[in-house]
Amino acid sequence: MRSSEAGRAAVVRVPVTFAVDRLRADSYSEGMLDLPLLSATMRDCGRKLPRTQSVGGAEDWSDLYYLIDYLAFAMDRAYESQPCRDGCSLCCRDYSIFRVTAAEWATISVFLDEQDEAETAALLERNRATYGAYREQLELVARSWQGEPSLSAINPHLGGLPPVCPALVDDRCTIYGVRPLICRAYGYFAVKVRDQDTLMICKDLGRAFLDSLKDQGLEHAPLPNFEPFDRQVRRLNGAGAIQPLPLWLLERADGHLA
Ligand code: SF4
Repeated sequence: MRSSEAGRAAVVRVPVTFAVDRLRADSYSEGMLDLPLLSATMRDCGRKLPRTQSVGGAEDWSDLYYLIDYLAFAMDRAYESQPCRDGCSLCCRDYSIFRVTAAEWATISVFLDEQDEAETAALLERNRATYGAYREQLELVARSWQGEPSLSAINPHLGGLPPVCPALVDDRCTIYGVRPLICRAYGYFAVKVRDQDTLMICKDLGRAFLDSLKDQGLEHAPLPNFEPFDRQVRRLNGAGAIQPLPLWLLERADGHLA
């Protein structure tokens, strides 16, 4: 997901994107379509995945965000027609009830503690104004996610919730450096939906991307699978809650009011 780099300069804890910048020159040249290299990168990341131990807390391969950012970067370089670009926020306006594990929230929460107090207050207020009236529904969603074995299950509680992520301002993500795992995967990874491999990408841009792959004879082009990353973040999360971002933010606001 590219909505945004506005939050980057303010990031305190998670300079993963900077580390990825350093890696760019090492392995990939701009605009190349080297599928064997991409496949090798995917296999390598698959081997490293079970050994990750933190979620945004380190700047090396032991960190899940570092690993997924690297794989998304490799995808970006391998597929020139991949349409996600800086400043696009379509996916932040459509699927904003992204699940956030307690492990991911801990990293976001530190960022909110450390950034300018007024920025955090504005985010909490924006969230309250948009989602405050939907708290019970958000709690229902969170409860249903807790026991849900996979991302592909259709969730009956999501209908009718406001669509825009509260972290989005002027098409920019205000928590970009600490955005959750699913935001990092969006646009680059596949999941199974009703037993069909499906690219996680917005409807507006996804069709054209898949058509461009077809035009290049790449119907069977390699795409990384998000499910092992989802399982790993749940493993690192242990018994921690899994909630929509707006619910975490409402609870944080409660704490501030207490
Ligand atoms: S946290 Fe919200 S604004 Fe940021 S990338 Fe994710 S959906 Fe978009």
